[in-house]
Amino acid sequence: MVMPQPSKFLSVRQKLLESWSRRLAEPRQGIHVSDTMLCLRRTAFQRLDRNPPTTDLKKIKYFHQGIMKHQLLQDLLGKEEFEIEKEIVYTCKNGLKIIAHPDLIYKKDGAVIEIKTTESTSCQTKYYKHHADQAKAYVAMLGARYAVLLYIILGYTKEAGTNYFPEYILKVSEDERRKILEKLERDATELQRGLDERDPSLVRHVAYDKEYMNRLGRNWVCENCDYSSLCSALRAKERESIFNVKNIKTSRSSS
Ligand code: SF4
Repeated sequence: MVMPQPSKFLSVRQKLLESWSRRLAEPRQGIHVSDTMLCLRRTAFQRLDRNPPTTDLKKIKYFHQGIMKHQLLQDLLGKEEFEIEKEIVYTCKNGLKIIAHPDLIYKKDGAVIEIKTTESTSCQTKYYKHHADQAKAYVAMLGARYAVLLYIILGYTKEAGTNYFPEYILKVSEDERRKILEKLERDATELQRGLDERDPSLVRHVAYDKEYMNRLGRNWVCENCDYSSLCSALRAKERESIFNVKNIKTSRSSS
């Protein structure tokens, strides 16, 4: 956490942090596809927190890099062939609306293009599942045939060689499309309930999800979560109530 330094001079860095915090505190309308990626409970915490923790500069750096690179590619690719950040609204069977903003849509065949920036070269051999899930969700919502997931490797990394733009074609079959939409509807409904009740404990978490364990056996999503202490306390309560229910059942069956 970066604390404000008393000074008679302007600190632009401090201004950045303050405006970032204000931005995080702004109420967000509707459920977005990105809200359902990685951890639903984290999204619930973020959306319900009107006083978000003072963020670290790393997040602002990534945000800035992401915006700049997206802008650059969008400017290069142009509006003639691509639709840029078009808003898509998908209505669930229960009436809930899910909003999406794919980076680009190729006008010729409706392909979705999702651009991600990273400082890691691991995307040269394999895409990240949650990035693919997001791109495929857009494909399913639009009824498109496929997505292109493009990575931009930022910064100088020797291992990157010259492959700074690995890309992947992600096809979505009709069957997969149906499953993706079902999951999206389920997740959005669960998240909306947690938000309506102002209770993150009603929303699923990924703390024990093997998919997010790094080589050290630690969950990298949780390690980067501003709400890990709150979540950990909630999970302890959940374990306690499960334990109590089990005890009640055992004592009933033995009496
Ligand atoms: S600590 Fe992990 S499981 Fe809990 S809200 Fe954060 S990301 Fe989700």
